Amino acid sequence: MPSFVKMSDLATHLEDKCSGVILIKALILELVFPITAAQKVVLNAHSSLKSIFSSLPNIIYTGCAKCGLELETDENKIYKQCFSCLPCTMKKIYYRPALMTIVDGIYKVRIHVESKLIEKILLNISPDQLKRIIGKISACHQEVILGESINFSSVDSIMEQQEH
Ligand SMILES: [Zn+2]
Repeated sequence: MPSFVKMSDLATHLEDKCSGVILIKALILELVFPITAAQKVVLNAHSSLKSIFSSLPNIIYTGCAKCGLELETDENKIYKQCFSCLPCTMKKIYYRPALMTIVDGIYKVRIHVESKLIEKILLNISPDQLKRIIGKISACHQEVILGESINFSSVDSIMEQQEH
């Protein structure tokens, strides 16, 4: 973090017309993961542990390791290749990008959050780890641990926002 960047608040910058990098401290109210045009996963303080848990498989996807394109499976459940990146056929698990609502006092803004930052918000649990855990879970004990990791009412988030 550059030393000239000072911690600030959202209100100041919503009124300012300047550009640059700012740091603000705010609460995360909600994360919305669009899955398809008709389907989305909404995680917030009202989400039950059960619903958070059951939505976990939907917030990750298997994509091309090079460009991140989501890969579909054929009728034999074999992943199709990413034609733009051939001969690279490596696959990788990603978090889906999400729309995050943050609040600072009376001000709310929605921010587009890409895959890498979702991983940071989810306490650096990598999408690979998450997929392995989902595959293994049979006891409700683990469900509680995962659910408790996502605590919307107490997550302080420091983020950079580009102003226009
Ligand atoms: Zn690709």
